Parts: sequence; structure tokens; C-alpha cells
Amino acid sequence: MAISGIAPRVLLVEDDRTLADMVAVLLTEEGYRVQVAENGQVGLHHGLTGQFDVLIIDRGLPILDGLDLLRTLRDHAIVTPALLLTARGTVADRVEGLDGGAEDYLVKPFEVPEFLARVRALHRRHLSTATSLPIGQRRLVPATRTVVDPAGTAPDVVLSERECALLATLARSPAQVFTRAQLLELVFDRADTDGTVDTYVYYLRRKLGRESVVTVRGVGYRFGVR
Ligand code: CA
Repeated sequence: MAISGIAPRVLLVEDDRTLADMVAVLLTEEGYRVQVAENGQVGLHHGLTGQFDVLIIDRGLPILDGLDLLRTLRDHAIVTPALLLTARGTVADRVEGLDGGAEDYLVKPFEVPEFLARVRALHRRHLSTATSLPIGQRRLVPATRTVVDPAGTAPDVVLSERECALLATLARSPAQVFTRAQLLELVFDRADTDGTVDTYVYYLRRKLGRESVVTVRGVGYRFGVR
């Protein structure tokens, strides 16, 4: 059942076709819109480009493991709540899954009512946190990659995926000074260079004001609007 009135969107990454079909039918009957991906790479593509309210990710996936998929999404500031499905259920597995960025963990085979209850709980969590970050008087909404002004005096500022990921990383730890190497690791690709970080800091300053990112000489950058 939809909580918000509009059909909540679920990304289901599961390589077991039979299980994926069954879960997709169950969720559709409950009022969710379901996007199915059958491997980690396709799941990553949808996760980075689509808008979802809940992620359901099988841990054992071809091409890209479910835990690596989830970590990569978190590294890109995708904070959508995630339920990790697994055939394994040891305490170590559970801890690894939760540490990897999952909000919840369900061992296969699972009971349908419990599964649906957990998805509903995650969706409620998504609605209640709405996951926006304070940017001075404004707020960054990662789901829409937009900086909005709740007072309505400044126009919305739309960010690119990387600008959004960089700003979200800085804004989540406003007191921390990040080196370029740390930002490369957290936000960008291995192939990128320090110059990439500087370029995206320049883009953010151009869109949000010079003070939005502070240069800490000889070290790197920190968030500027507190
Ligand atoms: Ca699997």
C-alpha cells in the first residue's frame, strides 16, 4: 500500500529470475512501482540515474556484488534506504551488510508478510528523513540534486551528479577538512586527478557562492556555509 499517495518506487536488484518475478508481483500488488535489475552493474546504473524510495538488493549478484553495489551508491551520496537480501545469515554477514550501508537485512527464504513489513518500514523512514542537508539557510535535497530555499527567497539551484555528491560529502561533515585525495576517493573516480576536485569546487562556488566551499591552504577543502 502506498503511504504517500503517489506510488513509491522500488529498485529490486536480484539475479534469481523466479524470486525477482515473485517479489516484483508482490510489490506491484502492494502499490509500488518496481524496477528490476538482474545484475549489479545494471542495478548500479539504475541506482545512479533513477529516483527510488527503497532499494532491495540481493547480496550475491553477478558482475558486481550486492554489497559493493550498495557501497558505491553510498559513495555517490545516494542515501535511499536499502534492504539487503542474502542466503547467508551469520552475525558477521549481518554486521558487514549493515556496515556496508544497508538499513535492514533479510535472510532468504523469507516470509512474505515480514518482507512487506520491512519494505513499508524503510519507505516510512525515507519519507520521514527526506534526507536533506542544511546549506546555511538553504537545504540540499540529494534525491533531486537541488539546493532549495525553504523561505522561498532564493531560486532553486540544480546540481550535476558530481557537484551534488561533492557538496553532500562536505556538508555531512561540516567541521572536517578533506584532502583532495580523500575527496577523489569519496566522490570521484580513480582515474580523476586533483584538478578534477578543484574544478568541481569551482563549479559549486559559481552556483552557490564563493563562501560555499572554503580552501584550507596546504590541506584541502571544507564546507563553508554553516
Ligand atoms: Ca543471488
